[in-house]
Amino acid sequence: MFDIQEIRSQFSILDREVNGKPLVYLDNAATSQKPNSVLEVCHAYYTELNANVHRGIHTLSQLATEEMELSRRKIQKFINAEHDFEVIFTKGTTEGLNLIAYILTQKLQKDDEIIISYLEHHSNIVPWQMLCERTGARLRVIPIDENGVLQLDYLDQYLSEKTKVVSVNQVSNALGIVNPIEEIIAKTRKNSDAYIVIDGAQSAPHFDIDVQKMDCDFFVFSGHKMYAPMGTGILYGKREILEALPPFHGGGEMIATCSFEGTTYAGLPFKYEAGTPNVGGNIALGAAVDFMNRVGHENIQNHENALLEYAQRQLLEIEGLKVYGEKAKRTGVVSFNLEGVGIASDVGMILDKMGIAVRTGHHCTQPIMNFFNIAGTVRASFAVYNTFEEIDRLVEGVKKAQRMLG
Ligand SMILES: *Cc1c(COP(=O)(O)O)cnc(C)c1O
Repeated sequence: MFDIQEIRSQFSILDREVNGKPLVYLDNAATSQKPNSVLEVCHAYYTELNANVHRGIHTLSQLATEEMELSRRKIQKFINAEHDFEVIFTKGTTEGLNLIAYILTQKLQKDDEIIISYLEHHSNIVPWQMLCERTGARLRVIPIDENGVLQLDYLDQYLSEKTKVVSVNQVSNALGIVNPIEEIIAKTRKNSDAYIVIDGAQSAPHFDIDVQKMDCDFFVFSGHKMYAPMGTGILYGKREILEALPPFHGGGEMIATCSFEGTTYAGLPFKYEAGTPNVGGNIALGAAVDFMNRVGHENIQNHENALLEYAQRQLLEIEGLKVYGEKAKRTGVVSFNLEGVGIASDVGMILDKMGIAVRTGHHCTQPIMNFFNIAGTVRASFAVYNTFEEIDRLVEGVKKAQRMLG
């Protein structure tokens, strides 16, 4: 059974007040709150287990290693990877994307092409631009239409034997648009040998992920957007691909043997996990997966979709309010502006006075803002603990902002 009050009771922070009002936290696309079960795992790690992993013969080191490897297997199941060693711990999506762009350097030459889309977060744009600078490759960008939907006929046009990478997000953080990645992957496989990279930062918190069925080569996401601590994240890569590519960071943990004459590298996953990892955080990421499994993925999706539908319907009743991507398939996010109110942050400030946390600005997606010819939007984004009453308060707050600013 889905009991929203029981779920909320697992998040102590939701009991606090902000500016004298009960907190309404609607900035989940930036980071979600963490349930007490995850916080307890962090606390227990540092009070009972703390030791460096994979190196020690002593008991604590072995226990910490076991817990972290158990967490890796939970995440393997969570994304349905074939092997646990295809699951690499990172500090987040940004690091994962930079890692991929770096290790592909030798695979690209001058005039090769990398395809991304207009809907990407800066962290799925800039690492590819840097790769282009290193190699002389070119970036091609799939455009969007006025609904924010990708125009896939451009993908057909762009795909060729020159295409070496196709990297797109599954869900857009700025607008919440769900991209047809099945179709993008199928087209890419059919018409090129490109590596396929999926930015799952906004899909892993909401959807069932199956990297084998998806048939991507890489899938990256952040722990902190799915109920885990900050500084955690995952890079999934197919075994044959990760085995064939060079390492990223050099250092401890990632070597098999090291001498001044030369070094050989460790096998997966350690080849890509140089240095001391965020052991407590990585274990807590497994606890966040446990939390999501307990709530149930279908319950999470159904509840969040109901919240989105309810929020959009109410907001669109406000005269002069525009929802970006209104007609597109979306999840978890409603991004909007009020006509005649120049600056989204003014709306955000008034909402904050009422205890309502939303994000305003460009959401690390300046190309989308340029496309719509705006500086930013007001973005409300949902998690499993949000309620319909909270959306009523949001709508009431937006109406108040309109009266004050209009
Ligand atoms: C948040 C986000 C990122 C970057 O994630 P970090 O956790 O900041 O590294 C990348 N892509 C999308 C779609 C995001 O939402």
